[in-house]
Amino acid sequence: MLLPKFDYHEASTLAEACEMMAELSGKAKVLAGGTDLLVNMKKKILSPEHLICVERVEEMKGIDVVDGHIRIGASHKVADIAASAQISRSLSALAQGACSLGSPLIRNLATIAGNIASARPAADLPPSLMAYDAEVSLRKKGGERLVKVEELFKGPGETVIGPDEIISEIRVPRPSGPYGAHYIKLGVRRALEISLVNVAVFVLLDEGDGSIKDARIVLGAVAPTPIRAPSAEALLRGEKPEDMLYERAGQAASSDSKPISDFRASAEYRRDMVAVLTKRALRTACKAASRS
Ligand SMILES: Cc1cc2nc3c(=O)[nH]c(=O)nc-3n(C[C@H](O)[C@H](O)[C@H](O)COP(=O)(O)OP(=O)(O)OC[C@H]3O[C@@H](n4cnc5c(N)ncnc54)[C@H](O)[C@@H]3O)c2cc1C
Repeated sequence: MLLPKFDYHEASTLAEACEMMAELSGKAKVLAGGTDLLVNMKKKILSPEHLICVERVEEMKGIDVVDGHIRIGASHKVADIAASAQISRSLSALAQGACSLGSPLIRNLATIAGNIASARPAADLPPSLMAYDAEVSLRKKGGERLVKVEELFKGPGETVIGPDEIISEIRVPRPSGPYGAHYIKLGVRRALEISLVNVAVFVLLDEGDGSIKDARIVLGAVAPTPIRAPSAEALLRGEKPEDMLYERAGQAASSDSKPISDFRASAEYRRDMVAVLTKRALRTACKAASRS
């Protein structure tokens, strides 16, 4: 399969990339690792006239802590997120998502922004980012806006990112207190596998009585976009963490899910697996929270 014809542009700074996006608005796409975009272009699903490569833009790289947020550059590679001691320590569910994405070859090319912007319902990083209440910085010529990852997705492959906007960085509030998080991906194989179902969980315990003060549960591959499980979250708040509670929350999350049947799994199986994975993720996250 050959790529369709396109003009290739390389930006050296974020300002330059925004300038190009403004000039070519609607005709250009950002090229990051290319593991999603180039595949879709080969399949003729997409045929942008221009690709703007942001590989050399230094402002879009790196991980640091700024004003109580962990800032992850948009072009940060998934392999580097998986290997980062800081991410493993503070955002373990994101590290787990990164470790389970594709294969070493894919992880060495794929970027965090590409995983978000491609808006696949089964993608591995958005559930954990949503569980941590992360937001993205969208930059364009002369402007910036912050959008919660949770509010970014409109449907499979569709986001609220404008044709002239670029994700420049991801900001994750730095969790503190007795918190824990966990991400589980269910697939048929252990590598190079798209999730049949995935679940990310974040819990914060009350420092006084050890009850669950806050909980965020995100389900992937069971709706057109990753979704929160509101009834499961409501059921957990104010309760003491224990196995029966996780079981009930798993059932509630299952009712919150809206899966379809396809060649990979039936809706019924996916719904059952949401209950199982939510229960397991909660158990691990609450255990980590009570140790922290
Ligand atoms: C064999 C294979 C296995 C895979 N396995 C998995 C898997 O297990 N889990 C998973 O989640 N995904 C998987 N993927 C999909 C893909 O690898 C990931 O989604 C990856 O993170 C995409 O990142 P990228 O940098 O390659 O993005 P690209 O392909 O470069 O871009 C993807 C989209 O994002 C846009 N984009 C990129 N960067 C920006 C930016 N800074 N601002 C605005 N828009 C931007 C592009 O314009 C394009 O529309 C797999 C792909 C392949 C080919």
